[in-house]
Parts: sequence; structure tokens; C-alpha cells
Amino acid sequence: GPGASKRWNLYLRWMVRGPDAVDLGLWREVPAAALVVPLDTHVHRVARALGLTARRDASWRTAEEITAALRRVDPADPVRFDFALCHLGMSGLCPARRDPARCEACTLGAACLARARGISGTRGARPSGSARAGTSSPRRRRAAR
Ligand code: SF4
Repeated sequence: GPGASKRWNLYLRWMVRGPDAVDLGLWREVPAAALVVPLDTHVHRVARALGLTARRDASWRTAEEITAALRRVDPADPVRFDFALCHLGMSGLCPARRDPARCEACTLGAACLARARGISGTRGARPSGSARAGTSSPRRRRAAR
């Protein structure tokens, strides 16, 4: 389906990456390069803020787009950034509602499009599969690309 399959991708991350302080690394026959980022609301928000995707839906296509952007940094292990991205959002360091004081102190500020544009990374973001995630209007279809 069109969903991001976050739990499956997180499970695969645990089993394939590592071993390290986060992942178990038990499945050696699967290359880490083949993993797709486990996309949740935190990763989506921070990825949008950093310009890794412009897509507003938390869909499989968005997960692939973010993974492709991370692959440009580390082709062999693009999903190694997932934990850091997720916890930046989960911890509240990058809050859902933009906080100029936090942005001012953020070490990613120089690379952050949301900060440069003065908007939240999740502005307009919609979970995939929700009633609000529809792409019925031309404006929504353009936004989802
Ligand atoms: S500069 Fe602000 S919006 Fe950008 S990553 Fe940091 S806290 Fe989030």
C-alpha cells in the first residue's frame, strides 16, 4: 500500500544495521544500503525542515525520497541517520510548533530550510492514509509531489 510501513522498516533497521548501541545487526545477508528510513512524524518533520523532502504526506514515496537524500551522504548506510533525525524531533529539540529560540540555538540551523523560511518543518504535513491526506484537488496533488 501507499503507507510508509514504519514498523517494518524499523524492524529491518534493527535486524540489518549494526551491531551498535542502537541496532542488533543479526541479518548479515541483507545490505544496509537496501534499507528504507522508518518514516514517522518526527523524521518527517525534521526531514522537511532540512530539505530532504518537500512532500507533505508520510507515505512510502516520501520515505523513499528521504532515503535517497540520505543515500547521497552515505550510499552504503543511508538509514544510519534515522535515530538522530527521529530523536531530534522526539526529544523536542526540534518542536512541531516552530520556536525561534530553539532554532536560534540549533546546531542544524545553518542547514535548515524551515529556519531560513521562518516556518515549521511540518507545516501542512499530513499522515498518509488519513482523510486529510487525499490528493483530490490540483493544489493537493502539487503539494504531494
Ligand atoms: S533550526 Fe529549528 S526547525 Fe530547523 S532543525 Fe533546528 S530546531 Fe528544527
